[in-house]
Amino acid sequence: MLERKDSERHAMVESQLRARGIHSPMVLEAMDKVHRESFLPEHMQDLAYEDSALPIAEGQTISQPYIVGYMIDALQLDGGERVLEVGTGSGYGAAVLAEIAGQVITVERHKGLADRARDILDQLGYHNIDVVHGDGSTGWHPGAPYDAIVVTAGGPKIPPALKEQLAVGGTLVMPVGQTESSQSLVRITRENADDFREERLIEAHFVPLVGQAAWTEPGQPQGTGLLTSQAARAEPRSLSELVAEHAEPIDNMETVDLDPLLKRIGDARVVCIGEASHGTAEFYRFRARITKELIEKKGFSFVAVEADWPDASRIDNYVRHAEVPAASWTAFTRFPTWMWRNAEVREFVDWLHDYNRNFESEESKIGFHGLDLYSLYTSIGAVLGYLDNVDPATAKIARDRYGCLTPWQADPVRYGRAAASGRYGECEKQVVTMLAELLQKRLEYSVQDGERFLDAVQNARLVANAERYYRSMYEGYSDSWNLRDQHMFDTLQSLFNHRGEGSKAVIWAHNSHLGDASKTDMSVRGQLNVGQLCRETYGEDAYLIGFGTHQGKVAAATEWGGPLEFKTVRPSLSDSWERVAHDSQVPAFMLGMREPGSRDLKEQLQHQRLERAIGVIYRPESERISHYFSARLGQQFDEYIWFDVTHAVTPLDSKMLKGTPETYPFGL
Ligand code: SAM
Repeated sequence: MLERKDSERHAMVESQLRARGIHSPMVLEAMDKVHRESFLPEHMQDLAYEDSALPIAEGQTISQPYIVGYMIDALQLDGGERVLEVGTGSGYGAAVLAEIAGQVITVERHKGLADRARDILDQLGYHNIDVVHGDGSTGWHPGAPYDAIVVTAGGPKIPPALKEQLAVGGTLVMPVGQTESSQSLVRITRENADDFREERLIEAHFVPLVGQAAWTEPGQPQGTGLLTSQAARAEPRSLSELVAEHAEPIDNMETVDLDPLLKRIGDARVVCIGEASHGTAEFYRFRARITKELIEKKGFSFVAVEADWPDASRIDNYVRHAEVPAASWTAFTRFPTWMWRNAEVREFVDWLHDYNRNFESEESKIGFHGLDLYSLYTSIGAVLGYLDNVDPATAKIARDRYGCLTPWQADPVRYGRAAASGRYGECEKQVVTMLAELLQKRLEYSVQDGERFLDAVQNARLVANAERYYRSMYEGYSDSWNLRDQHMFDTLQSLFNHRGEGSKAVIWAHNSHLGDASKTDMSVRGQLNVGQLCRETYGEDAYLIGFGTHQGKVAAATEWGGPLEFKTVRPSLSDSWERVAHDSQVPAFMLGMREPGSRDLKEQLQHQRLERAIGVIYRPESERISHYFSARLGQQFDEYIWFDVTHAVTPLDSKMLKGTPETYPFGL
């Protein structure tokens, strides 16, 4: 156990700190020395080296390791200094500081947290840390002046007392922002008695700094703080009014006029429609409505979705009336089955099947494709099946090559672990060679049937990328995230190549894949996504749409692989974009954000706030940590679509599928 933690900590230092630009040997060594698990409650110790903040008592958090390293790095310590930390929290940050500084004074407003941190730090043998219980927004006079000050909670501005207590030549780092949860990290350097140099570093979101010179305690009378929460809430309220004024209400989602939206979309080549959960009926239904109009009125050529290629191929064959033998396996049976096997998707698929009767050839019909890469073994089967048909000799070689991955069929994650441990040879060479050979035979094979060749190549590409994906899971979450989104984007591009110059795509996936990641705090973790890649490649010709909701029901599981549950979505947090939309009091609307009709509204949409993301997993009990990130909504998306109250999707059961033909994609 201890050894495992050591190696997790070393890996954290490499992949979360060094790889993201923290190079100070002193900081890296200190982060490698302090055991983060010692500061966590026992049941959370397994998560100690996750790349995220984690909840501790009193509704507070232990900061993300990267942020702790980043802030201490930003203090530019040489070693031996006298440092003030405001916001002890768990005591973890103070311990890292104490590995470098001569003396650390750390102030915490919650007595319970201060006492617990003091006990842990004592037990760990830190003699150069004083834990003080009090309001650190006015600093800690008895210990001043300090060579460095770090504030680990966000305030509306840097409290004057902290500047006064900073020694000349000293540095202070603090999250500063006009809302209680979204800030920029600011560094000030005291150049002489009166002059301070100020630099803005990165975007961040911290718990609020609550005190005399910061935000007011919830429930306290106004006027005690430097800026009251009320002053901050005045902005969201007026923003909500602006939203109400400029949004286009959706009175009825089946009949509302979409022409204004289609006009905003203009001649875009790719329209990304993101959803804020994978189990909300309104998102699915309205996304389908928009897609139908894009197909009918603007000639869009295919829909590409966050599903695996071979499973989506089954839908594609059905909607394009392809003459292929009935498959021997059932599509969309992998967790989370409800994401695609639901009544809302079925309605769209049936519509597309009928709509495609308007076209003669299979090539000119509207396609339906999968962008994702979780179907390693189904894809291997598809490549082999294809080669058995067109080139049995190559099929034999392919069987040998893919055989390298066979032992891990039941759980490909175990392949990643084995390959990362070096105990099992990697299969990279075999799967990459197989893809290259297929591509080399493009001319020979595709004369027989271009569509089936595309299918085989996509499956071979998926196998090659999935092999890398499972290995990269052991190098870090961001690496595997990026690999997956890059694969989705590359698949889109090969579809464009296949369909030709004038082809246009609608993409369906989660907001976190389709809203531009560079305008959210995903970028702090080095993550990119499909929306960002579309913008970088297609500029104004990529139109990004995001959905949101305040409360209701959602279909989701509690853990990966767990059963489907119908869960209650909590009302959105007070400092979120969702709350801005809710406070507009318009129950459902579309809001074009490129030119929203008011300069003030456009400006306010550029600010940073929390945004909720529910995936196939929803954990309301740790919602803020598990499901909120921060984003500049007006830059992340071109359009925001809102449903204040939402309902869960309806998963398909066998009764609903009775009597469907053998080739039906959701067959039993
Ligand atoms: N660095 C800490 C760690 O490693 O666990 C994380 C600190 S947490 C993000 C911020 C802390 O600041 C919370 O524990 C909160 O109670 C505390 N805090 C907020 N306002 C404060 C104030 N005015 N004075 C002292 N502590 C404050």
